[in-house]
This record gives sequence, structure tokens and C-alpha cells, in this order.
Amino acid sequence: MTRAIYPGSFDPVTFGHLDIIRRSSAIVDELIVGVLNNRCKDPLFTVMERVRMLETVTKEFPNVKVTSFSGLLIDFATETGANLIVRGLRAITDFEYELQMSQTNHIMKPGIDTIFFTTSLEYAYLSSSTVKEVAMYGGDISHFVPESVMDAMNEKFQQKEELS
Ligand code: ADP
Repeated sequence: MTRAIYPGSFDPVTFGHLDIIRRSSAIVDELIVGVLNNRCKDPLFTVMERVRMLETVTKEFPNVKVTSFSGLLIDFATETGANLIVRGLRAITDFEYELQMSQTNHIMKPGIDTIFFTTSLEYAYLSSSTVKEVAMYGGDISHFVPESVMDAMNEKFQQKEELS
């Protein structure tokens, strides 16, 4: 049985992430999307909001589960009995960090390998931070995220405006 973890911040999930989820879930028995609860970052969405958004947009994939985690990825992978870690590569700028992380993880747990999916060309430019920036200034993000995520972003920015 091949169980893989696709970890990330997913703040918010984009069509680029979904493309990696679709392609990787097709070649493993089970894919766990792990939403990182990272204390060092200041996310737009809470970890529970990100988990729920991912659950909604991955409903069509029966072998995909979504869960949050904190701490070391390799510990989370061990706890869940995963033998693969999935990551996406967009540009050369992703490569150095990803290579370092995968080698570090492999030294800590030689039984767990990282596999990389190169981005589909149409999503090569796409990142959660770009989406947030466009949305913040009222731009159209329908090319970047599913409708349910678009609604959640509009709601979030409206709440922020009301608070300020
Ligand atoms: P992190 O904070 O771990 O980088 P992200 O949510 O930004 O979390 O990304 C999670 C994973 O998805 C990373 O491996 C990243 O390279 C990949 N990814 C993000 N956007 C895209 C995209 N447009 N195409 C392919 N992979 C992507």
C-alpha cells in the first residue's frame, strides 16, 4: 500500500495545488494532504479554514484525505504510516530548498522518499501569495482558485475591512 503526504501551507489552495493533488492521487493508494500549522508564518486563513476549503475542493477524489499537522513533517509522515512525500516544483527557485529538505528528511527517515511533480505549464506562475495580493486589491482570482475558495477569500477580506 502506498500512502503519500502532500504537505503545504495551502493559504489558500490554488488550481496549482489541485493539479498536483489530482496527478499524485492517481498513482498512490492514499494521499493525505497535510496542512501545516506553522507558528512562524502569519496566514490569512486559520488552519481549520484551510482544511475545510481543501476538503470541499478535493471531494471528487475518493483516496484523498485532508488533515492538519504541526511540528516536523517527517514525524507526521511516520505517525501516519506514509512512505512518500509529494512536493511540487514550479521554477528553479523552488529547487534548492526542496532538494535540501528532501535530503534532510531522507537522512532522518531513510524509509520515506520525496517525489516531485513539475508544475503543469498553465500553473507555473501560480502561488498562494500572488492570489492573496490580487484578491486584496479586488482583482479577479477566478483563474487561480475554485469558486468556493474565491467566496471564502472575498468573505475574509470583507471581514478584515469591517475590522479596520
Ligand atoms: P509551502 O509553504 O510548504 O511551500 P505551499 O502551499 O506554498 O506550501 O505549497 C505546497 C506545495 O505545492 C509545494 O511543494 C509547492 O512547490 C507546491 N505548489 C504550489 N503552487 C504550485 C503550482 N502552481 N504548481 C505546482 N506546485 C505548486
